[in-house]
Amino acid sequence: MAYPALFKRRDTTPVRCGNVIVGGKNPVSIQTMTKCDTRDVASTVEEIRRAVDYGAQLVRVAVVDQEAARAIESIKQKVACPIVADIHFDYKLALVSLEAGADKVRVNPGNLGGKEPLLKVAKKAMEKGAAIRLGINSGSLEKDILEAHGAPTPQAMVESARRHLRYLEDAGVDNIVLSLKSSSVKDTIEAYMLMAEFTKWPFHIGITEAGPGEHGIIKSAAGIGTLLALGLGDTVRVSLTGPSYKEVQVAKEILQSVGLASYGPDIISCPTCGRTQVDVVSIARQVADALQGITVPLKVAVMGCPVNGPGEAREADIGVACGRDGGILFARGKVLGRVSSQEIVPALVKLAREYAQSPEGKN
Ligand code: SF4
Repeated sequence: MAYPALFKRRDTTPVRCGNVIVGGKNPVSIQTMTKCDTRDVASTVEEIRRAVDYGAQLVRVAVVDQEAARAIESIKQKVACPIVADIHFDYKLALVSLEAGADKVRVNPGNLGGKEPLLKVAKKAMEKGAAIRLGINSGSLEKDILEAHGAPTPQAMVESARRHLRYLEDAGVDNIVLSLKSSSVKDTIEAYMLMAEFTKWPFHIGITEAGPGEHGIIKSAAGIGTLLALGLGDTVRVSLTGPSYKEVQVAKEILQSVGLASYGPDIISCPTCGRTQVDVVSIARQVADALQGITVPLKVAVMGCPVNGPGEAREADIGVACGRDGGILFARGKVLGRVSSQEIVPALVKLAREYAQSPEGKN
């Protein structure tokens, strides 16, 4: 079997969601969803602004009733990013959200009530120049599809997506984003891989209900990272049992770690072992903290000994290969000289700041 070409982005039709275009040649965008009650406009605006400060490009809000749908109008007046209305069960909430200015609606075809309500929402979205996301979720597939497949398998998710996509395409809807999410990493990857055979609409990717803390982060990184490697993602949402800004931080880390984006310093530090002679853990942490405000791409290597240290440090933009009581500093592949243990952190931070200000850093 020939392995697929990695990171060869799938060819997709660009879809406008307010001032963000998803798909086509556009960079993979980051989105999140607010956790507070959308009817509380002040809290929602505060949460959205924080998420945007962290790097969110689109933000979704839960629309639980008409009041929440109408609140989108006030929210939109106070934030610049596109707002996505998250709709379940009641299609009329999507219509009100679109009237209130939502840039995109996410509907779950499994609980919206069939073809007619879906088409009413899609027609309104077209009228308003908004996008529609068909958000297939393994937990809410239609009864007949579930019965036919016996379980919410990737094939069942794809069948549901194709059925509803056909309704939209037959009606001439032309601003569609798709997602096929499951809390199983394996099923999610398989569903997107299968679906990619049938459509050119962009994919919103993520692992649904990934869970709390490290567990959710690792699951999301495994699933989203794999999909990105396969070229199957146009916009990303990390779902964590935690604050929305944290979801954005994790999404950025995933995109940066697979080389699809660069948001600032990339700290390469060795795991340490019995050869380590300085406190690499503390040095790496202090350097990472000190460089937090820097937004230019910059590789900083902090290595514990002369085994791999000089090689990694030389390959990075700046680095240190530690040894007994100090280390050798490197910048742009060249040895700068030896520093004592106490001088390592200030010296790396100074070099990083200088690099960020240099023409290379600004490029
Ligand atoms: S760089 Fe040296 S200290 Fe760090 S893990 Fe490798 S061998 Fe161990």
